[in-house]
Amino acid sequence: MAFRTLLRPLARSYATSTLGYGREVEGFVGAVGNTPLIRLHKLSEETGCNVLAKAEYMSPGGSVKDRAALYLVKDAEEKGQIRPGGTVVEGTAGNTGIGLAHVCRSKGYKCVIYMPDTQSQEKIDLLRLLGADVRPVPAVAFDNPQNYNHQAARYAKTLDNAIWTNQFDNIANRQAHILTTGPEIWEQTNGKVDAFICATGTGGTLAGVTRFLKEKSDGKVECWLADPPGSVLYNLVENGKAERAGTGSITEGIGQGRVTQNLAQDISLLDGALHAPDAESIRMVYRLLDEEGFYVGASSALNVWAAAELARRKGPGHTIVTILCDGAYRYQARLFSRVWLESKGLLEAIPEKLHRYIVL
Ligand code: PMP
Repeated sequence: MAFRTLLRPLARSYATSTLGYGREVEGFVGAVGNTPLIRLHKLSEETGCNVLAKAEYMSPGGSVKDRAALYLVKDAEEKGQIRPGGTVVEGTAGNTGIGLAHVCRSKGYKCVIYMPDTQSQEKIDLLRLLGADVRPVPAVAFDNPQNYNHQAARYAKTLDNAIWTNQFDNIANRQAHILTTGPEIWEQTNGKVDAFICATGTGGTLAGVTRFLKEKSDGKVECWLADPPGSVLYNLVENGKAERAGTGSITEGIGQGRVTQNLAQDISLLDGALHAPDAESIRMVYRLLDEEGFYVGASSALNVWAAAELARRKGPGHTIVTILCDGAYRYQARLFSRVWLESKGLLEAIPEKLHRYIVL
């Protein structure tokens, strides 16, 4: 009796949840999405706002790209472009490939990943462990026909029953976020969200969430881009000129040199952009670890820095939502290495009291 009484409140809290937690889901693909929306308490206190972050690093493949991977494959299935036993081909240096490799294992497809040969051995190993056929190719610019994306596209054409998922320009990527991430944020905040901000790689997350929140709120929710050095999008959003702001960045998976098809339809809906220096992103990697207990990568940290910055601009009492894209595990040999931080000139960006985390 005492045991049942103890259990009851827990059972009730599961039963009232409209999200996936507590309910059985079907396989790997059923577990994608429905991530928690986490209030970052220190940053919320500091800014007087609700700074909320969607924990995409908790997705079963470990990143926000599981959603895109799933919808890219689903879309091809629905259009009859791939049948059981087929092959999924993509050019990707990171999380999309990992997401696709998981989805392909779960659905029984073969997975071929073309990537630039500059990528870390850890990423190649992980993709191979997940059953993907990994093909490192020389790292050349997008306008060179030997670029990894073009090689992926050409190879898919040589196969029967195969697709090139084309994450940058296939808008099934953006659709994943219109249909899942956006509605989840709306539901988890009971529609009380004042602003959304995040960085973009393909643009799928920012465009999809922006489209949904703008439509749902009659344009009231502000949507902002957070952009790293080396990307052209900050200048494009702020002053209409697609010019690079600064040179390269330490943040992997984000920053863009062109307007992808995923971004094209929604970039005009954005209310503004923030330029995020690497020093702020790396400092936030360490702050999130020390103050909030999160072990997340640099794009997540950039997003959180930008959300806090936007909160300061808007003033107390607002709810700002952003994305924790993936964990720090894939980057730890760099982000927590003194030698690497020094080589990037970023050691000084990390306050002395946080140097105890520099253990590699
Ligand atoms: N963060 C990381 C670590 C990523 O790998 C990506 C995708 N390249 C993003 C953020 C950006 O997501 P999107 O492609 O939806 O713009």
